[in-house]
Amino acid sequence: MPIRLHDSLTRSLLELKPSQKDGVFRFYNCGPTVYAPAHIGNFRTFVVNDVIRRLLELEFGADKVKHVRNLTDVDDKTIKRAQDEKRPLAEVTKQWTDKFHADCDALNCLRPHVEPTATGHIPEQVDMIDVLMKKGNAYRAADGSVYFKVSSFDNYGALSRVKERELQQGSALKAAAADADEKEDLSDFALWKAHKPDDGANAWDSPWGRGRPGWHIECSAMSKKHLGDTIDLHTGGVDLLFPHHENEIAQSQCCNGQLFSHHWYHSEHLLVDGKKMSKSLGNLYTLDDLVAKGFSPMALRYSLLMGHPRKQLNFSLDSLHSAESALIKLKFFRDGLKQIATARNEQATDDTLTFDPVIDVLKDDVNTPGALGALFSLIPEAGKPGSAANRLASLDRVIFAFGLDLEKDPVLPKATAPIEITALAEKRWAAKQAKDFAGADVLRKELTAAGWSMLDSKEGYKLEPSKK
Ligand code: AMP
Ligand code: ZN
Repeated sequence: MPIRLHDSLTRSLLELKPSQKDGVFRFYNCGPTVYAPAHIGNFRTFVVNDVIRRLLELEFGADKVKHVRNLTDVDDKTIKRAQDEKRPLAEVTKQWTDKFHADCDALNCLRPHVEPTATGHIPEQVDMIDVLMKKGNAYRAADGSVYFKVSSFDNYGALSRVKERELQQGSALKAAAADADEKEDLSDFALWKAHKPDDGANAWDSPWGRGRPGWHIECSAMSKKHLGDTIDLHTGGVDLLFPHHENEIAQSQCCNGQLFSHHWYHSEHLLVDGKKMSKSLGNLYTLDDLVAKGFSPMALRYSLLMGHPRKQLNFSLDSLHSAESALIKLKFFRDGLKQIATARNEQATDDTLTFDPVIDVLKDDVNTPGALGALFSLIPEAGKPGSAANRLASLDRVIFAFGLDLEKDPVLPKATAPIEITALAEKRWAAKQAKDFAGADVLRKELTAAGWSMLDSKEGYKLEPSKK
């Protein structure tokens, strides 16, 4: 059974296969902007892409998959962070790149084969813009910025299906256009941004004057350099579909005169407690936030796989508890299978029961919840007599595909309340027993402000770190 994945361009399930004679599957995944720790929403996207990478390796062989994921290390956000902290841009982006790598390793994500940076590919971006200028797809505005002329590419809007006229009224485009008052047309987008005082030292020379590349051109240029003009799969979170990927298609196809990507895949966002994650709502979690609450990175990885990647997933701390139980159960089952296989010194036989059907579910549009369901429904059957070695080998393929590291402890010691919090809780409990409910409420608020919840029952109370 081939791997089939939803293609955002044709809106259909299409088979994934290498399109070039060398049989190498070329895979580009838009990476993070490195100015702060990535949040668990970002990691939903990277974990889903990691499962795709693993499936591709199982299907075509590890040496027949080339995975490129970029690092956006120059843009408004990275520059602002460096200016605010009065540090060089490269120092700030290195700090957050290192943190991103550490988090990806903890989540057991395979490293991409190439991880190019925008600042490391200025000449490649300049070359592409130069071609677009020569072909008449781009123009230099009076301020020295260079824009892509959207009207020069007939197919613009094919991915997002937003017509140019509609775009002009669209809020997304207005936001994207906010910094570009010199454009000939509102739908045009920046390829090269002329140097502004706010950019400080973060500028490079170009035929159009000093400045820095626009965001979209980096992916077109790095994909071309490391994977060639035409790739097999390009992915990212759903927010990248427009304008980022629409613009990438326009730039790449106008520059190269070739199809850019055979397949486009977008995974949906993670919500927390039913809401979009944001700092102001206090529901933005990083991996460290969850580890501080006593949850393991593996429990997070598992919980991120519990929802279908093309549907929004609502994250809650409860889902981490379910993930912990599932991981414990899985490890217990695998350890048992391994013991039997080792004790019997058994060789793989032609026992028909395997975990391969789980991989088949996964190959059908990375249906991770369906595959987890299939895995657990096979476990009782696979515990019955048969070839343990055979079953173990196929189970290990499944565990590889999900990227679960069962050797890592799925449950970390849960956070215990510091002494001053326990003292507050004792005071509140005493107030409640004395029926001083107003006083008890005030103390509860103090506990909440300190990040703790007090769960009352008849027997007493329990302290838990609050969700935020
Ligand atoms: P960024 O660092 O903002 O460029 O984002 C890195 C990746 O995370 C992109 O593929 C985004 O589409 C994705 N992303 C951003 N927010 C979320 C979210 N709440 N849930 C899932 N993916 C997200
Ligand atoms: Zn990109």
